[in-house]
Amino acid sequence: DAPGPVVLRTAGLTKSFRGLVALREHAIELREGEILGVIGPNGSGKSTFFNLITGFSRPDSGAIEFRGRSIVGVGTARIVGLGIARTFQGSRLFGSLSVAENILAAAQLRHPVGPVAAVLRGPRYRAHAREAETIAARLLNLMGLASQADRPAVDLPYGDQRRLEIARALATEPTLLLLDEPAAGLNSGETRALTALIRRIRDLHGVTVVVVEHDMDLIMNLCERIQVLATGEVICVGSPEAVRSHPRVREAYLGH
Ligand code: ADP
Ligand code: MG
Repeated sequence: DAPGPVVLRTAGLTKSFRGLVALREHAIELREGEILGVIGPNGSGKSTFFNLITGFSRPDSGAIEFRGRSIVGVGTARIVGLGIARTFQGSRLFGSLSVAENILAAAQLRHPVGPVAAVLRGPRYRAHAREAETIAARLLNLMGLASQADRPAVDLPYGDQRRLEIARALATEPTLLLLDEPAAGLNSGETRALTALIRRIRDLHGVTVVVVEHDMDLIMNLCERIQVLATGEVICVGSPEAVRSHPRVREAYLGH
Protein backbone atom coordinates (compact mmCIF):
# COMPACT_ATOMS: atom_id res chain seq x y z
CA ASP A 1 0.00 0.00 0.00
CA ALA A 2 1.14 3.52 -0.76
CA PRO A 3 1.43 5.48 2.48
CA GLY A 4 -1.47 7.85 3.12
CA PRO A 5 -1.11 11.55 3.80
CA VAL A 6 0.57 12.72 7.00
CA VAL A 7 -2.13 13.42 9.59
CA LEU A 8 -0.03 14.51 12.54
CA ARG A 9 3.55 15.68 12.72
CA THR A 10 5.49 16.77 15.76
CA ALA A 11 9.09 17.97 15.75
CA GLY A 12 11.27 19.17 18.60
CA LEU A 13 8.24 19.15 20.86
CA THR A 14 9.36 20.01 24.39
CA LYS A 15 7.49 20.69 27.64
CA SER A 16 8.80 21.25 31.16
CA PHE A 17 7.04 21.62 34.48
CA ARG A 18 8.97 23.65 37.04
CA GLY A 19 12.31 22.68 35.53
CA LEU A 20 11.42 19.02 35.08
CA VAL A 21 11.40 18.06 31.41
CA ALA A 22 8.22 16.02 30.87
CA LEU A 23 8.74 15.69 27.09
CA ARG A 24 11.97 16.42 25.24
CA GLU A 25 12.33 16.93 21.48
CA HIS A 26 9.43 14.66 20.66
CA ALA A 27 9.03 13.83 16.99
CA ILE A 28 6.58 11.62 15.14
CA GLU A 29 4.93 11.51 11.73
CA LEU A 30 1.60 9.71 11.63
CA ARG A 31 0.03 8.50 8.39
CA GLU A 32 -3.71 8.38 7.77
CA GLY A 33 -5.30 5.20 9.12
CA GLU A 34 -2.24 4.14 11.07
CA ILE A 35 -2.42 2.75 14.61
CA LEU A 36 0.55 3.95 16.66
CA GLY A 37 1.24 2.65 20.15
CA VAL A 38 3.07 4.79 22.70
CA ILE A 39 4.61 2.95 25.62
CA GLY A 40 6.91 3.87 28.48
CA PRO A 41 7.11 3.73 32.26
CA ASN A 42 4.96 5.97 34.45
CA GLY A 43 6.02 9.59 34.17
CA SER A 44 7.70 9.14 30.79
CA GLY A 45 5.61 11.86 29.12
CA LYS A 46 2.87 9.88 27.38
CA SER A 47 -0.08 11.87 28.72
CA THR A 48 1.89 15.09 28.30
CA PHE A 49 2.19 14.23 24.60
CA PHE A 50 -1.62 13.92 24.38
CA ASN A 51 -2.14 17.12 26.41
CA LEU A 52 0.09 19.08 24.03
CA ILE A 53 -1.63 17.81 20.89
CA THR A 54 -5.12 18.48 22.23
CA GLY A 55 -4.46 22.00 23.52
CA PHE A 56 -4.72 21.11 27.21
CA SER A 57 -1.13 22.18 27.61
CA ARG A 58 1.10 24.50 25.60
CA PRO A 59 4.57 23.41 24.46
CA ASP A 60 7.69 25.34 25.48
CA SER A 61 9.02 24.80 21.98
CA GLY A 62 8.57 22.67 18.92
CA ALA A 63 6.03 22.11 16.19
CA ILE A 64 2.68 20.31 16.08
CA GLU A 65 1.01 20.09 12.69
CA PHE A 66 -2.35 18.55 11.98
CA ARG A 67 -2.89 17.92 8.27
CA GLY A 68 -0.13 20.37 7.44
CA ARG A 69 -1.32 23.25 9.66
CA SER A 70 0.24 24.32 12.94
CA ILE A 71 -2.08 23.74 15.90
CA VAL A 72 0.25 25.14 18.56
CA GLY A 73 -1.77 27.52 20.73
CA VAL A 74 -5.13 26.36 19.35
CA GLY A 75 -7.68 25.85 22.16
CA THR A 76 -9.23 22.53 23.16
CA ALA A 77 -12.66 23.23 21.65
CA ARG A 78 -11.24 24.19 18.27
CA ILE A 79 -8.99 21.12 18.31
CA VAL A 80 -12.11 18.98 18.68
CA GLY A 81 -13.65 20.91 15.80
CA LEU A 82 -10.63 20.11 13.64
CA GLY A 83 -11.23 16.41 14.21
CA ILE A 84 -8.93 15.38 17.07
CA ALA A 85 -10.52 13.54 19.99
CA ARG A 86 -9.08 11.92 23.07
CA THR A 87 -9.92 9.88 26.11
CA PHE A 88 -8.37 10.49 29.50
CA GLN A 89 -6.42 8.17 31.75
CA GLY A 90 -9.12 8.47 34.42
CA SER A 91 -12.86 8.50 33.84
CA ARG A 92 -14.48 11.74 32.68
CA LEU A 93 -18.04 10.51 32.31
CA PHE A 94 -21.10 12.45 33.46
CA GLY A 95 -22.13 9.80 35.99
CA SER A 96 -25.70 10.94 36.53
CA LEU A 97 -26.46 11.30 32.81
CA SER A 98 -27.59 8.25 30.89
CA VAL A 99 -25.28 6.44 28.50
CA ALA A 100 -27.12 7.93 25.51
CA GLU A 101 -27.00 11.44 27.03
CA ASN A 102 -23.25 11.13 27.59
CA ILE A 103 -22.73 10.36 23.91
CA LEU A 104 -25.22 13.01 22.80
CA ALA A 105 -23.49 15.70 24.87
CA ALA A 106 -20.21 14.86 23.15
CA ALA A 107 -21.82 14.78 19.68
CA GLN A 108 -23.16 18.29 20.33
CA LEU A 109 -19.60 19.55 20.74
CA ARG A 110 -19.19 18.97 17.02
CA HIS A 111 -22.74 20.05 16.17
CA PRO A 112 -23.22 23.06 18.43
CA VAL A 113 -26.58 24.75 18.40
CA GLY A 114 -25.72 27.94 20.30
CA PRO A 115 -27.95 29.57 22.95
CA VAL A 116 -30.04 31.64 20.56
CA ALA A 117 -30.68 28.79 18.14
CA ALA A 118 -31.54 26.55 21.06
CA VAL A 119 -34.19 28.97 22.29
CA LEU A 120 -35.65 29.61 18.84
CA ARG A 121 -35.50 25.90 17.95
CA GLY A 122 -35.38 26.79 14.28
CA PRO A 123 -34.37 24.56 11.35
CA ARG A 124 -30.65 24.90 12.09
CA TYR A 125 -31.18 23.73 15.67
CA ARG A 126 -33.29 20.81 14.55
CA ALA A 127 -30.77 19.76 11.88
CA HIS A 128 -27.91 19.78 14.39
CA ALA A 129 -29.95 18.01 17.06
CA ARG A 130 -30.97 15.33 14.54
CA GLU A 131 -27.38 14.86 13.38
CA ALA A 132 -26.20 14.47 16.98
CA GLU A 133 -28.92 11.88 17.64
CA THR A 134 -27.99 9.90 14.54
CA ILE A 135 -24.36 9.81 15.62
CA ALA A 136 -25.29 8.75 19.15
CA ALA A 137 -27.53 5.91 17.93
CA ARG A 138 -24.83 4.61 15.60
CA LEU A 139 -22.22 4.66 18.35
CA LEU A 140 -24.46 2.92 20.87
CA ASN A 141 -24.63 0.01 18.42
CA LEU A 142 -20.98 0.06 17.36
CA MET A 143 -19.77 0.06 20.97
CA GLY A 144 -22.24 -2.60 22.15
CA LEU A 145 -23.99 -0.18 24.50
CA ALA A 146 -27.46 -0.03 22.93
CA SER A 147 -29.10 -2.18 25.62
CA GLN A 148 -27.66 0.16 28.28
CA ALA A 149 -28.65 3.41 26.57
CA ASP A 150 -30.99 4.67 29.29
CA ARG A 151 -28.98 3.61 32.33
CA PRO A 152 -27.05 6.25 34.29
CA ALA A 153 -23.40 5.98 33.23
CA VAL A 154 -22.35 5.48 36.85
CA ASP A 155 -24.37 2.22 37.04
CA LEU A 156 -22.53 0.56 34.14
CA PRO A 157 -20.02 -2.22 34.72
CA TYR A 158 -16.47 -0.86 34.58
CA GLY A 159 -15.64 -2.29 31.14
CA ASP A 160 -18.76 -0.71 29.65
CA GLN A 161 -17.78 2.64 31.16
CA ARG A 162 -14.41 2.46 29.43
CA ARG A 163 -16.13 1.78 26.10
CA LEU A 164 -18.52 4.66 26.75
CA GLU A 165 -15.51 6.95 27.11
CA ILE A 166 -14.32 5.90 23.66
CA ALA A 167 -17.87 6.35 22.32
CA ARG A 168 -17.86 9.92 23.66
CA ALA A 169 -14.61 10.65 21.89
CA LEU A 170 -15.92 9.16 18.64
CA ALA A 171 -19.12 11.19 18.92
CA THR A 172 -17.15 14.29 17.95
CA GLU A 173 -16.38 12.52 14.63
CA PRO A 174 -12.59 12.64 14.87
CA THR A 175 -10.19 11.64 12.15
CA LEU A 176 -7.47 11.35 14.81
CA LEU A 177 -8.30 9.43 17.99
CA LEU A 178 -6.02 9.47 21.03
CA LEU A 179 -6.65 6.79 23.67
CA ASP A 180 -4.93 7.14 27.05
CA GLU A 181 -4.67 3.71 28.73
CA PRO A 182 -8.02 2.40 27.42
CA ALA A 183 -7.42 -1.11 28.80
CA ALA A 184 -6.48 -0.04 32.33
CA GLY A 185 -8.46 -2.16 34.78
CA LEU A 186 -9.84 -4.52 32.14
CA ASN A 187 -9.36 -8.28 32.36
CA SER A 188 -7.64 -10.14 29.53
CA GLY A 189 -10.90 -11.13 27.80
CA GLU A 190 -12.14 -7.55 27.88
CA THR A 191 -8.76 -6.33 26.64
CA ARG A 192 -8.88 -8.70 23.65
CA ALA A 193 -12.40 -7.51 22.80
CA LEU A 194 -11.28 -3.89 23.10
CA THR A 195 -8.31 -4.57 20.80
CA ALA A 196 -10.68 -5.90 18.13
CA LEU A 197 -13.03 -2.98 18.64
CA ILE A 198 -10.31 -0.35 18.19
CA ARG A 199 -9.13 -2.08 15.02
CA ARG A 200 -12.73 -2.14 13.79
CA ILE A 201 -13.12 1.59 14.44
CA ARG A 202 -10.03 2.21 12.32
CA ASP A 203 -11.18 -0.15 9.56
CA LEU A 204 -14.72 1.25 9.42
CA HIS A 205 -13.92 4.93 9.59
CA GLY A 206 -10.29 5.20 8.50
CA VAL A 207 -9.55 6.92 11.80
CA THR A 208 -5.88 7.37 12.70
CA VAL A 209 -5.29 6.09 16.22
CA VAL A 210 -2.64 6.70 18.88
CA VAL A 211 -2.94 4.44 21.89
CA VAL A 212 -1.01 4.84 25.13
CA GLU A 213 -1.12 1.58 27.02
CA HIS A 214 0.76 -0.59 29.49
CA ASP A 215 -0.89 -3.80 28.33
CA MET A 216 1.71 -5.36 26.03
CA ASP A 217 -0.73 -7.83 24.44
CA LEU A 218 -2.94 -4.97 23.29
CA ILE A 219 0.02 -2.93 22.06
CA MET A 220 1.71 -5.80 20.21
CA ASN A 221 -1.52 -7.11 18.67
CA LEU A 222 -3.01 -3.78 17.67
CA CYS A 223 -0.26 -1.39 16.69
CA GLU A 224 1.55 -1.19 13.37
CA ARG A 225 4.23 1.00 14.91
CA ILE A 226 5.27 1.61 18.47
CA GLN A 227 7.07 4.58 19.96
CA VAL A 228 8.89 4.12 23.25
CA LEU A 229 9.37 6.97 25.72
CA ALA A 230 11.46 7.05 28.88
CA THR A 231 11.81 10.12 31.12
CA GLY A 232 10.40 12.30 28.36
CA GLU A 233 12.71 11.12 25.63
CA VAL A 234 11.96 9.07 22.54
CA ILE A 235 14.00 5.88 22.82
CA CYS A 236 12.87 4.34 19.57
CA VAL A 237 10.02 3.96 17.13
CA GLY A 238 9.39 0.98 14.88
CA SER A 239 7.45 -2.20 14.25
CA PRO A 240 6.39 -4.33 17.24
CA GLU A 241 9.18 -6.80 16.39
CA ALA A 242 11.84 -4.11 16.15
CA VAL A 243 10.75 -2.46 19.38
CA ARG A 244 10.54 -5.74 21.27
CA SER A 245 14.14 -6.57 20.48
CA HIS A 246 15.58 -3.05 20.87
CA PRO A 247 18.30 -3.20 23.56
CA ARG A 248 17.44 0.16 25.15
CA VAL A 249 13.79 -0.81 25.34
CA ARG A 250 14.59 -4.09 27.06
CA GLU A 251 16.81 -2.25 29.50
CA ALA A 252 14.73 0.88 30.17
CA TYR A 253 11.23 -0.46 29.89
CA LEU A 254 11.01 -4.20 30.10
CA GLY A 255 13.69 -4.29 32.79
CA HIS A 256 15.82 -7.06 31.29
P1 ADP B 1 2.91 9.36 31.71
O1 ADP B 1 1.59 9.66 31.11
O2 ADP B 1 3.90 8.76 30.77
O3 ADP B 1 2.80 8.54 32.97
P2 ADP B 1 3.01 12.22 32.18
O4 ADP B 1 3.05 12.79 30.83
O5 ADP B 1 1.70 12.25 32.90
O6 ADP B 1 3.59 10.74 32.17
O7 ADP B 1 4.05 12.96 33.11
C1 ADP B 1 5.40 13.17 32.70
C2 ADP B 1 6.10 13.98 33.79
O8 ADP B 1 5.58 15.31 33.81
C3 ADP B 1 5.89 13.41 35.18
O9 ADP B 1 7.09 13.61 35.92
C4 ADP B 1 4.77 14.27 35.74
O10 ADP B 1 4.84 14.34 37.13
C5 ADP B 1 5.03 15.60 35.07
N1 ADP B 1 3.78 16.36 34.85
C6 ADP B 1 2.82 16.06 33.97
N2 ADP B 1 1.83 16.96 33.98
C7 ADP B 1 2.19 17.88 34.91
C8 ADP B 1 1.58 19.09 35.41
N3 ADP B 1 0.40 19.52 34.93
N4 ADP B 1 2.23 19.76 36.37
C9 ADP B 1 3.43 19.34 36.85
N5 ADP B 1 4.04 18.23 36.42
C10 ADP B 1 3.44 17.49 35.48
MG1 MG C 1 -0.29 9.02 31.63
